[in-house]
Amino acid sequence: MKSYNQKIQLEHPNYSLFIKREDEIHPFISGNKYRKLKYNILRAKAENKETLLTFGGAFSNHILAVAAVGKEFGFKTIGVIRGEELCDKIADNPTLHKAQDFGMIFEFVSRENYNDKIKPEFITRLEEKFGNFYLLPEGGTNELAIQGCEEILINADTEFDFVCCSVGTGGTISGIINCSKPSQQVLGFPALKGDFLTEDIRKFAKNSNWKLITDYHFGGYAKVTEELIVFINEFNQKYKIPLDPIYTGKMVFGVMDLIEKNWFPDNSKILLLHTGGLQGIAGMNNLLKQKNQIEININV
Ligand SMILES: *Cc1c(COP(=O)(O)O)cnc(C)c1O
Repeated sequence: MKSYNQKIQLEHPNYSLFIKREDEIHPFISGNKYRKLKYNILRAKAENKETLLTFGGAFSNHILAVAAVGKEFGFKTIGVIRGEELCDKIADNPTLHKAQDFGMIFEFVSRENYNDKIKPEFITRLEEKFGNFYLLPEGGTNELAIQGCEEILINADTEFDFVCCSVGTGGTISGIINCSKPSQQVLGFPALKGDFLTEDIRKFAKNSNWKLITDYHFGGYAKVTEELIVFINEFNQKYKIPLDPIYTGKMVFGVMDLIEKNWFPDNSKILLLHTGGLQGIAGMNNLLKQKNQIEININV
């Protein structure tokens, strides 16, 4: 794994703007997924579990991170995947294909059954089929995941007035809030529509110095627009930093748009968190190609 806490300055005339490259922690256990898994893996080892089981969609960063962790730390891994139709399409799906290479075994379930995944009957059925396992929730958010995310900000980061991150389940931002200073504001940019997130974050976050900026979901989870893709490509061209289209791309777009609109006070020090997810670009590009839309440049 590479060094953590590497910050790159993004030149800007009015602001001190930095991006923290959590995406560089590991190519597949990337960004916040590494942080969220760390203490869960230690717990699973302490409980002598041999198998990790988790849930996710076809392009899930979490699914691939768990598969890679299994390979690296000696666990069997089982991925319960949303969408029965995917079972004969593994070869066409870069995320599932790679996860399978890492040894993950899949259980494909219909969208309907997938919605029942936290019901005890569903878990019992999985135990009957796969034996004893350590269960990681969808997206990986639990108390131990938040503990891991509380290590994202370090002392050197206290100089920032604003810390900005993407929000999926809200686990990562909760950890960041808990390790931020009261003088700092944590800004979360939800990657999906819906106002349930505030409640979810309140469950885990110990401070109130945070705010969700809900204008940059681009139509919903995993939805993209041409404007977003063009932005990601221009950003990569300019700063040589790739962004994923599902999470970090939307957040960075949002921050740059707010800067244009003079939302931040002059001379603000702003830290952006690159939470990773670059593995998902190949799958997104396949979809964009099918629709004859502009694709994400990976190498600039
Ligand atoms: C999963 C993920 C997120 C969202 O994290 P939550 O803890 O679920 O809010 C953000 N960025 C990337 C790249 C992710 O893979």
